[in-house]
Amino acid sequence: MRDTSGSAGVTRRGLVGGLAASPVLAAAIPVAAQELAGLGPAEHVRAQLKDAKGTKLVLLGTGAGPAPTSLGRMRRMTSHVMLSNGAAYVLDCGLGVTNQFARTGIAFGAVHSVFITHHHPDHNIEYGPFLVIGWIQGMPLSVRAFGPPPLGEMTADFLRFAKTTIGFWAEDFRIKPLEAVAVAEVSAAGPVTEDDNVKVSAVIVNHPPVKPALAYRFDFRDRAIAFSGDTTPLDAVAHLAKGADVLVHEAMYVPAVEAFVQARIAQGFPVSFDAFMAHMKADHSPVEEVGRIAEEAGVKTLVLSHLTPAEDSIGDDTWRAPAAKHFKGEIVVGHDLMVV
Ligand SMILES: [Zn+2]
Ligand SMILES: [Zn+2]
Repeated sequence: MRDTSGSAGVTRRGLVGGLAASPVLAAAIPVAAQELAGLGPAEHVRAQLKDAKGTKLVLLGTGAGPAPTSLGRMRRMTSHVMLSNGAAYVLDCGLGVTNQFARTGIAFGAVHSVFITHHHPDHNIEYGPFLVIGWIQGMPLSVRAFGPPPLGEMTADFLRFAKTTIGFWAEDFRIKPLEAVAVAEVSAAGPVTEDDNVKVSAVIVNHPPVKPALAYRFDFRDRAIAFSGDTTPLDAVAHLAKGADVLVHEAMYVPAVEAFVQARIAQGFPVSFDAFMAHMKADHSPVEEVGRIAEEAGVKTLVLSHLTPAEDSIGDDTWRAPAAKHFKGEIVVGHDLMVV
């Protein structure tokens, strides 16, 4: 595997790493507290990636919904990176993706392509900023993006928004400006793209009113990884993930969702309990059903992620037990910066 923590790491430390690398800060705040505050490098991720043989998946954000981190919710919005043969493939760009990516120690120079499952903010809100900060940190201009329409227009619109600021950096540092990103829109099931490392395919999932919403499968040379995206339990996802090594599936724990919504309504949340639960049922997957899909797919490992509600108080066993009723393989409860 190519060393991905090399040359671009110098740029990263030079431009944005000053605060985290400050000996004053490091001495004043214990490592665990730095980690909790989202500062500093995630040494455990870096160590695992450095020793890795073959393709690795890092869960960057495992929480569902467009909610910022807060006391009781430390999970970031959805994002992932797969590292194979020195090339990084990013899937979804919820708020936090750029910092979380940096904390893995993977160089921005390794970013090969970005995939978006669907246009909900917890999956795409930091897509543009990731591209711009990534570019300053050494991401190749050849980066490609894939996702549902109108991703091409959205990308061009964002780069128009950022044109002035990109121009200042390009002039100041005499680097080529990020003017465009090659986008391939995906609006039907089938093959998405292929390169030396991976073959990518997609299916349409059920996530009204979002159309289309996608699930993806990445067939690397040594490993197949599938992602449900946001969906109700769907045979099409089981079919897509058939025989894969890993299925990352969204999951909701209904009793906790009910309690969560009731508490919010008591605080003045302007939606009725029935209307909210009807939406959740029409759009998402109860964790028990996720086990059924994984069993049907016959995957080796099921990763529960995009957890609803993303409350830290819900323990791993609470997530795992309902899925284990139907799925006999390995079940991993996703946490941010976990390497799979
Ligand atoms: Zn979502
Ligand atoms: Zn969604």
